[in-house]
This record gives sequence, structure tokens and C-alpha cells, in this order.
Amino acid sequence: MSYTALYRKWRPDSFDDVKGQDHIVTTLKNQIISGRVGHAYLFCGTRGTGKTTIAKIFAKAVNCEHPVDGSPCNECASCRAIQAGANVNVVEIDAASNNGVDNIREIRDEVQYSPAEGRYRVYIIDEVHMLSTGAFNALLKTLEEPPSYVIFILATTEAHKIPITVLSRCQRYDFRRISLDTIAARLRELTDGENIQIEEKALRYVAKKGDGSLRDAISLLDQCIAFYYGQKLDYAKVLDVLGAVDHEMLGQLLLLALAGRTAEVIYKLEEIVMQGRELSQLVTDFIWYLRNLLLLKSSDMDADALDVSEEDLKQLADIAASVSEETLMRYIRVFSELSNQIRYGTDKRVPVEIAFIKLTRPSMEQNLDSVLQRLEQLEKRVQEGAAVSYPAAAVTVSAQDAAQSAEPEEKKEIVLPKAQLDDLNLVRSEWNRITGQLGGAARVALAGSQVEPVQDGVMCIVFQDAGTYLIGARPSVLEQVRDYVNETYQKSFEFKARQKGANEAAGTVYVSRDELEEAFHMEISMPEE
Ligand SMILES: [Zn+2]
Repeated sequence: MSYTALYRKWRPDSFDDVKGQDHIVTTLKNQIISGRVGHAYLFCGTRGTGKTTIAKIFAKAVNCEHPVDGSPCNECASCRAIQAGANVNVVEIDAASNNGVDNIREIRDEVQYSPAEGRYRVYIIDEVHMLSTGAFNALLKTLEEPPSYVIFILATTEAHKIPITVLSRCQRYDFRRISLDTIAARLRELTDGENIQIEEKALRYVAKKGDGSLRDAISLLDQCIAFYYGQKLDYAKVLDVLGAVDHEMLGQLLLLALAGRTAEVIYKLEEIVMQGRELSQLVTDFIWYLRNLLLLKSSDMDADALDVSEEDLKQLADIAASVSEETLMRYIRVFSELSNQIRYGTDKRVPVEIAFIKLTRPSMEQNLDSVLQRLEQLEKRVQEGAAVSYPAAAVTVSAQDAAQSAEPEEKKEIVLPKAQLDDLNLVRSEWNRITGQLGGAARVALAGSQVEPVQDGVMCIVFQDAGTYLIGARPSVLEQVRDYVNETYQKSFEFKARQKGANEAAGTVYVSRDELEEAFHMEISMPEE
């Protein structure tokens, strides 16, 4: 037996089965009952809200031999022919693939002749905003003087792309996004009808994932059923199939970020990606998770209101207690910006990593929220009894700075052989380009690093902190840097890595003996002038 997708199998064939669009259904039924059918309709709204379903029911109803209360009877010859797709009076056109003038001219030629049988010829043009300008003009000609037996139903997700001249000739119906409750109720009808066991919480989760689209929700349900065929679907199974990031994982990510453990956050992220999780989804889930924490902090929410299990609620409450509202707001802001940024981007990994690094290192951001969070971290550390130093220039947050508070070392000047200095200067001047060709986390980690000489043919990459060191000092990264340098500049260098000391002075000056002598000479000769 062949498998029919639930969405097709359960597509409503009468108005009464259509969910969530009562205002539209009522109007259309009344038109049929009173015999006042229009010639051009525009159905607008997000995908999966029932536009084509209602268009088809309407097409059946206007041709039905004995409609019942405005709905098609689904029994007469006309109804059954349309149902089977065998009726020439109902023509469905996908404007996404038939968007040229010729496609519309064909229609214009056809509508010259009245239907041989049945009352109306109905053209359902889906994704109508995809029509070319020429096609729209051709369509407009027909809409201006439509034969009495022709009905156009134009469906679109983007009404703003329809020319005003066309809009003004249509009765417009705006399809609403379908509510969570309505979608959940429909899913329940389906699962009951198909004898599928599914936990209520799991079902509501699928409904929520549909995000206002019944069709999407049903397709998601279909995926879950196919994956766990014959088994009862519970929350965990549904989460697993839909690639959602569970609360435990989100909690771990958040706690690592709060603790400033950059490298571990990046590893965790890598683990999540390796499991095949989709990054846009992770970002959406993480925002939702932060939002739940914020709600928990600001009011008494129960598990149902947050759409989480009792266990998850307990865990959420614990985490919510350990993080301030200001920090949550800042995290949500960082991730909302990220969510806009990655929407159209092909490379999502790097922006997601950078956003997490931003969370772990508030010092990267200069605005008020992050200053507050830095102060909060310092206060906490003082309470825990650590010796905290407040450098004059900036409030720093890394643990080493707090633990060791000796005086900074003096800036050094080191003399190098000429050839070694040239090599060093070459690599330093090209450093941005060299690090820029690395991928993912490595590029981010190396962005703030410096290069220092070790010996002829050996250089060391100095990382600013433990987080970037852990990522950038991996052998695979050092090999990539070496290979790129060797190939691009025909130089065979080896690269090592170390973490910058807590009190190490920045900006050691390297000079060659020649330069040094020249400088001495200048200094000696200057007072003589
Ligand atoms: Zn009928």
C-alpha cells in the first residue's frame, strides 16, 4: 500500500473541516447561498494557512449540483470530478513556474468559450506575485471584463508585490496564522483518526513548531510518525526528530557562557553541529529559552504557560535564580541581532560562534548592559574572596587577572638577526590575511593574537587568553597556518602557540643589530646639532 502524506489525506473537502479561518469561510458560504459570487478573489497570508484548500472547496461549491448550506456535496458528478482532478473547469496554475505572458494569454484565449458543462470555470493561480509584469498586464485585461462564467482565485504569501491595478479588481481575504490551540486540536483529530499514539505535550510541541501554519505542523507530525513508526510518540522522541535543541543542552550552553568558559562553549557548539542540529533553529530555541527564563524571573509562570515539562521547569527555575535580568536582556539582544544576521547568510557557524563569545566576554561590548554585567562578575568574585585588581584602563574579567595582581612587566626590546627580523615582519604584516583564511572558531580565536620569534624558522602565536588559546593552539590549526604560510610566501616556518602571561607587557619591540646601531648613532649624533 502506498503511503499518502497526512496533509493530502486529511486535506479538508468541505468548509466545515477548514480550521482557523472562520471569517473567510462564512463570507464565502454566504455568497454561494445567496448566489452572489464574485469574479476575482485575492487570498493572502502565510504559507499553510489554507488558501489553496479553501480555493478548491470554493471551486467545487460553485459548480456543485446541489450544495449543502454553501458547501459542496462531494457526491455529485461535478464534485467527484473536481476531487479527482479530472474536471476541466477547475484549473490550478503555479505562477512560480508559469509566470510568463504566454501562460496568461493561454488563459485569455480559453475564457472566450463558456464551459461545456458546469457553471463556472475557476482559475486558481498560486504564488501569483511571481507573475512577470507582462503577465500581470495580460491578466488585468481579463479581470477588467471577465466573462460571467469565469472566476479567478489568486493566492499569494506576498500581497504587497501585486500591482494595485490588479488588487483593486479583487475581493481581498486575509488568511490568519492559525492559533496553537486550533492546530493542536486538528492534529489530535488526525492522530485519533490514524490510531497514532502521541502524548499531549509532544503534540502541542509539534503544533507550536508549525508556527501558525497547519500544513507545516502536519508535515512535522508526519516526519515524527515516519521516524518512530508504530511507536507511541512522546516529547523526547518528537524533540529528537524535529532537531530541536533540548532544555538540558540549552542550559549547559547558558551556564558555560555565564561562567565565561569560552572554549567549552565553542566545543559544545561543535558537538551540537556534529549531531546535525540546524544552527538557525538553535538560535531561535536559545532566544526562546532565554525568554522563558526572563518570564520566570519576572512572574510566577507554570509549566503549561511556558510549554515545558515539570522537570524542565524546576531546572529552569534554578538557572533563572542564578542569572540577573540585565544579563538575560543582554543575551537576548545579542541573539536577536544574530538571528537577523544569519537569516540570509550561508555561513551561519562563524556568526553563531562570535555571538557566544560575546556572551562569555562582556568586555568585547562597550555598552551599558555589558558594563553592568562586568561589575556583577567582579562583585561576585570579591564576595568569593578573590584578590581583584582594577587596572586603571579597563575593568577586565579573565580569571587570571583576578588571581595574579603583580605589577606589569616593563616593555622589552629584543635584537634579532636581520633575516629572522625580515621573516617576522613579513608574517606580522600579513597576519590578518593568514588568519583570515582559517575557518570557524579558529579564525575568531586567532583574530586577536600576535606573533613572536622563537628561533630561525620558528614562530610562536601568542593568545590573549585561555579561551582563544584552547581553540587556536590545536595542532590542526597550527598546521593550517604553517601550510598556508609555506605555500603563499615560499617560507618554511613552524608555528608554536602560547598564552600571554597575565602581567606580560604588550608590544615588545624587535630590531636588527643594524637598526640598533643606526639608532644609537642617531642618538649620539643628535645633541651635536
Ligand atoms: Zn456536489
